Amino acid sequence: MPEVNDPRRGRVNSLQVVARATAGLWHGFMMVLWHLGRRPITEQYPEYKRSLPERTRARIILTRDPDGEERCVACFLCSGVCPVSCISMAAGEREDGRRFAPWFRINFARCIYCGLCEEACPTLAIQLTPFYEFCEPDILTMVAEKKDLLVDHGGKNHDYNFYRFAGVAMVGDKGAHVDEAAPVDLKSNLP
Ligand code: SF4
Ligand code: SF4
Repeated sequence: MPEVNDPRRGRVNSLQVVARATAGLWHGFMMVLWHLGRRPITEQYPEYKRSLPERTRARIILTRDPDGEERCVACFLCSGVCPVSCISMAAGEREDGRRFAPWFRINFARCIYCGLCEEACPTLAIQLTPFYEFCEPDILTMVAEKKDLLVDHGGKNHDYNFYRFAGVAMVGDKGAHVDEAAPVDLKSNLP
């Protein structure tokens, strides 16, 4: 058995390195030969555009519920979860108590299309679509306002209506029902 400082040990290691390198080269040559015999798979974009799966994550939209109302309730969950902070909005409230976003903005120049906003949204308002052809030479024009984002359909889920579950309409005043506590003022932290 060779000693630790035995020069034969160095020779054995060198031979192993040469053998591995030769095997790697041979593997590479075989891959080239294999690909030479295959049909080319280059797709001539933009002449040819592949249909992408429905769940592809690209341009973002804001959808509407089956009643045609805006689904977004300005809960800020999407902007809170966004890892690059590219969503901003303001919250408003209609006379019937339904919340909405008076303005809603996404900076597509920063968006990394991770889909976390869509995952977080409780109303299915914000959705990523397979549409990816919206690059602009001027990065400042990649900021989309609500009018650019809001569509007139329900996106991937046409049937879901958040307000059918959460509800804004009540019979009688809040807190006036049997065993119901009076409503708290959500806009105050005072006890
Ligand atoms: S897809 Fe990701 S990066 Fe883009 S807006 Fe949604 S959470 Fe932010
Ligand atoms: S898009 Fe969804 S998560 Fe974002 S503020 Fe509107 S309701 Fe909330």
